[in-house]
Amino acid sequence: MAQGWRRRTDDVRRASAGAAVRAMSGGRLRWRRAGAAERTLRAGVYGAAVGGAGAAVVDRLEDRRALDRMDRPREALRAWDRNERKAKDMTATATAYDAIVVGGGHNGLVAAAYLARSGAKTVVLEGRHKTGGAATTEAPWPDAPEFKVTRLSYVMSLLPPTIINDLDLARHGYKIYPMGPYYQAFPEGGSIKLYADDAKRNHESVSKWSKKDADTMPQWDAWLAGLADVLGPLLLTVPPAIGSRKPRDLKGTLKLAWQHRGLDVRTIADVTRLMTMSIADLLDDWFESPEVKGALAVNGVIGTWAGPYEPGTAYVMAHHSIGDVGDGHLGNWGFQEGGMGGVSNAIELAARSHGAEIRLNSPVARVLVEGGKAVGVALANGDELRAKVIVSTLHPRTAFLEQVGRENLPGDFATDIERWKTRSGVVKINLALAELPDFTADPGVDLQEHHTGSVEMAPTMDYIERAFQDARDGKAAVRPFSDGVIPTAFDKTLCPEGNHIMSLFTQWVPQDWNTEPHTEELEAYADRMIDCYNELAPNFKSSILHRDIVGPYEMEQEYGLIGGNIFHGELSLEQLFHMRPAPGFADYRTPVNGLYYGSSATHAGGGVCGIPGWQAARAAIADRKRTTRSRRA
Ligand SMILES: Cc1cc2nc3c(=O)[nH]c(=O)nc-3n(C[C@H](O)[C@H](O)[C@H](O)COP(=O)(O)OP(=O)(O)OC[C@H]3O[C@@H](n4cnc5c(N)ncnc54)[C@H](O)[C@@H]3O)c2cc1C
Repeated sequence: MAQGWRRRTDDVRRASAGAAVRAMSGGRLRWRRAGAAERTLRAGVYGAAVGGAGAAVVDRLEDRRALDRMDRPREALRAWDRNERKAKDMTATATAYDAIVVGGGHNGLVAAAYLARSGAKTVVLEGRHKTGGAATTEAPWPDAPEFKVTRLSYVMSLLPPTIINDLDLARHGYKIYPMGPYYQAFPEGGSIKLYADDAKRNHESVSKWSKKDADTMPQWDAWLAGLADVLGPLLLTVPPAIGSRKPRDLKGTLKLAWQHRGLDVRTIADVTRLMTMSIADLLDDWFESPEVKGALAVNGVIGTWAGPYEPGTAYVMAHHSIGDVGDGHLGNWGFQEGGMGGVSNAIELAARSHGAEIRLNSPVARVLVEGGKAVGVALANGDELRAKVIVSTLHPRTAFLEQVGRENLPGDFATDIERWKTRSGVVKINLALAELPDFTADPGVDLQEHHTGSVEMAPTMDYIERAFQDARDGKAAVRPFSDGVIPTAFDKTLCPEGNHIMSLFTQWVPQDWNTEPHTEELEAYADRMIDCYNELAPNFKSSILHRDIVGPYEMEQEYGLIGGNIFHGELSLEQLFHMRPAPGFADYRTPVNGLYYGSSATHAGGGVCGIPGWQAARAAIADRKRTTRSRRA
């Protein structure tokens, strides 16, 4: 466990007397491992330094109610109450920290958990009234609070076992239901189902559309699995600063080359194809049936400001196909119990269990930079907090251009961030349903397998491309593309028994819809989307009890997703690996000493994978260790 974090405030020290393990060594403060009692105490201190104590208590009470609504495990609620009692007993106004994490999205929470676990006195500053960022469960209908939706992100795949195990997330409520098949019904009749882990049934399903494609499917799966073997480990690799001649960077580049010394010409060629081709061209090389290609193209355009014929979309498909949900089936996805907010809650509980404080309603306005070094942050209310380590997990434009300022950044870096591409044209439509869709191709409103996976609206590649071209021409798609899911096929915590929640991840609206609400046009767009599903399942429209539409403007204004991009920046070729978020700074460090960066705009993001937060914390802890060692020497 990393050491080297220093000092705690006198107030905290007094309050935690007995548990505190602070020692004076050679005139310098030395941090030893905190005991459990102290960690609990520190978890309870959160909020004490923001505004008046009264305001903090109000926030905490609201949060407690939110916890109740989220159906948190009883044990977690009891722990929360214990911490609250201890926090109230304390008069401390602890304003000095070892580490400050800006943003309480899942990456910020992961970073905080690792930093606190390493012994750092850590605080997370979250601008909204709740944590989670784009991984959030909310009740959007005030008159129907019993319906909860996973408002933005909706399925899990990429969170690596390392993080799940290190943070003991299962104990804190991380629970995944693996999803059923991809399902596409067709207006002309018939349907296709694609399974992540059942070659025999894939063959049966695909054969209905093309015998040749059915026979090709196992080779395609094997090809993808081979590429995942190469790309999967890369997700956990810190990208080197390719081109730099500094010894440390050269070492990184050589290490990367050495790790891949086993690759042969064929595999390199396949990776090159994947990185450069469009998903349409790639699938044309393998398959003949438009229906099969439509179903397989979905992952290539998710969250992307690019139609299936754009180069680079083949990689987007791979990015969405290399995770698993811990059951060993490549490319499988799953539903978190309680929605995606459940993932954030589990990480938050882990962070708190290690003593991290989490302050809600605490938007950060500036990162304080003195002598080229980050020394703290200023909140929007004017309060300042200081720490040796700052980890930002906000969109790069916010983190660097707004909060650090061009004057504190190298010109090239600032220009790279200004040029950062951050479009999506995504609209999320969340529905409360009275009953399940009754598909003409697979009749019945009782739960069936095709309700348990992705319920797609992507009948052919041309259909998807048309939707993109509409948006590129400046209007919302006439017939939008959708990746739909019904998490309540498994998860009974989101709505009353017998009802269902359906989440439609849809594309595209014009790229500049982040600048205006476009409320009426979004309503019309949602009507059209619903009509498309109604053509396949005639009970669909009449089954809708409530609907919630989140467009790019709300994503930007409410959630800080600039441009409405779902990953804090496009997964386009020029923004991947050593270029994410900028060349020379893909190692989760930044041009400002003491400032680390762990949002989805770094390598391995986007998605709810926690890797950016984990890597940023690791970089900070490693640098801290190095500094402590060199001071001692
Ligand atoms: C519609 C949609 C669907 C998606 N679907 C999926 C999916 O199914 N599966 C998947 O894996 N990924 C999905 N994603 C992507 C994924 O959700 C994101 O990549 C990921 O959640 C981002 O996490 P983060 O912690 O990096 O950033 P965020 O979640 O954006 O967190 C940043 C946090 O910082 C806070 N903040 C902003 N400004 C300030 C400030 N000034 N001061 C303090 N705090 C601030 C925000 O409120 C937020 O809580 C989806 C995203 C969207 C939008």
